[in-house]
Amino acid sequence: MNTKRVCVDPELRKQLFTEIMHTGLNRGAVAVSPELLQHAARCPACSTEFEAWIEKADIGRILTSAREIVRRAGNGDPSVQRREGNGRRFYFGPVRTGTSVGTLVTTDEDDQIIQADEGSLEDFLRLQ
Ligand SMILES: [Zn+2]
Repeated sequence: MNTKRVCVDPELRKQLFTEIMHTGLNRGAVAVSPELLQHAARCPACSTEFEAWIEKADIGRILTSAREIVRRAGNGDPSVQRREGNGRRFYFGPVRTGTSVGTLVTTDEDDQIIQADEGSLEDFLRLQ
């Protein structure tokens, strides 16, 4: 027996995936129209994959932002906070200058990214 769940409307599935990725990767947060959300809730295939798609979009956005912050820190950008300890470097780049939420990055001494996440300046000060 084939237990793979099949999407009830492949056209909506395509739109749903595209909208999650587009808003998640480019606009800072996943935003999906009500029609597509309804499909995601009701479709046996899409409902099981919805969370994983959002996670993928979030990871992609955070990683892009993390690379950008390490690059800016390397150029001496004063809006990027930086500290070091235990052979690691920690960076915090605010979403906008002056805000206390942003992207947290942990790298090794060669600035290779070890970890990246969204968080606050307080989270940054706790990184170790
Ligand atoms: Zn579907």
